[in-house]
Amino acid sequence: SSSIFAAVEMAPRDPILGLNEAFNADTRSTKVNLGVGVYFTDEGKIPLLGAVKAAEKARLEAAPARGYQPIEGLAAYNNAVATLLFGKDSALISNGQTLTIEALGGTGALKVGADYLKRLLPNATVYISDPSWENHRALFESAGFPVSNYAYYDATTRGVNFEGMLADLRQMPAQSIVVLHACCHNPTGADISADQWKQVVAAIKERNLIAFLDMAYQGFADGIKEDAVALDLFAASGLQFLVSSSFSKSFSLYGERVGALTIVAASKDEAGRVLSQVKRVVRTNYSNPPTHGGAVVAAVLSSPELRQQWEEELAGMRVRIREMRSALVEKLNARGVKQDFSFVLKQRGMFSYTGLTAEQVERMKTEFGVYAVSTGRVCIAALNSKNIDYVADAIAAVLK
Ligand code: PLP
Repeated sequence: SSSIFAAVEMAPRDPILGLNEAFNADTRSTKVNLGVGVYFTDEGKIPLLGAVKAAEKARLEAAPARGYQPIEGLAAYNNAVATLLFGKDSALISNGQTLTIEALGGTGALKVGADYLKRLLPNATVYISDPSWENHRALFESAGFPVSNYAYYDATTRGVNFEGMLADLRQMPAQSIVVLHACCHNPTGADISADQWKQVVAAIKERNLIAFLDMAYQGFADGIKEDAVALDLFAASGLQFLVSSSFSKSFSLYGERVGALTIVAASKDEAGRVLSQVKRVVRTNYSNPPTHGGAVVAAVLSSPELRQQWEEELAGMRVRIREMRSALVEKLNARGVKQDFSFVLKQRGMFSYTGLTAEQVERMKTEFGVYAVSTGRVCIAALNSKNIDYVADAIAAVLK
């Protein structure tokens, strides 16, 4: 008898992880990987932050038992997350209108949120930006939603097509779910201004839409508080909304899978009922989150010294990315590249949408071993003082 798997087809490779495999197989010593969304130090290493190291050391010495966590995760962690998102004087928090659960990274938070929303609003459509993080569409589709795009990136201005975005918001059916990048838009690096956020909040209110804010890079644009401007405006709006957040990047804890889902309800009573339903989603999926990552983040955020150290280390990452942006623009100019690359300085977060075509990206790979996403997205946080001249050479060569 034939295997039950005999007719199973090979699924397409994940485009970004596929890029990593190709990069790892490349034997050229000069190769550079600008494909992944990971912050590297100037030495080309993923950092282990000093604040994290200190919290881990203390935890190891305390040698805590590893019982199960509550379904929603560690209370100290969840409280710290809400405070980071909404500030320590948040009325939403003191009113008990927010609920936070510890999730398996930002991705896990999005999926728990999506699964919960599917139970709440089974007939809704989800809208994501055009373009968006490559996993948004697949993730919401896997939760059973139809997924459409709203206008976002304008390739001619290399900024946001804000008129198009607003027009699309104003045409969405009531109770549609709108996924918004709270800051540091992935993949384009193009964010909207505080004033534009106000108009987005107004449109969401007017059309009775549900905002799902994805905050994967808090602290990578202007600062922890500064990057939460969209959250502040939603918090002040009186709307109910969801937030997925992640410490993968801001704590350099990628593999520990530390994120959170936060939901803002209309009242404390409502928040309690929503939490009970979200817990059912978690219980039937992975039961409860792992202990280590959340405990480390909670320890850092609740110790004044470690928190200070973390904020400095995060600022260091932010500043180094900015330096790499300036250096790249300078070095391209110095190589006589005719195109104006000053837009790279305006983009925020880890990435730059360079405008390089899929063909040019392919040439960078084959001729130079410089790997980028075929959309022309490069990870600026993977540039360093040793590889940047070589990368500038490669970009200049394929633009000629
Ligand atoms: N959302 C966006 C916009 C991202 O860029 C990422 C990571 O690349 C995530 C969510 C997922 O974060 P995590 O790695 O914590 O699951």
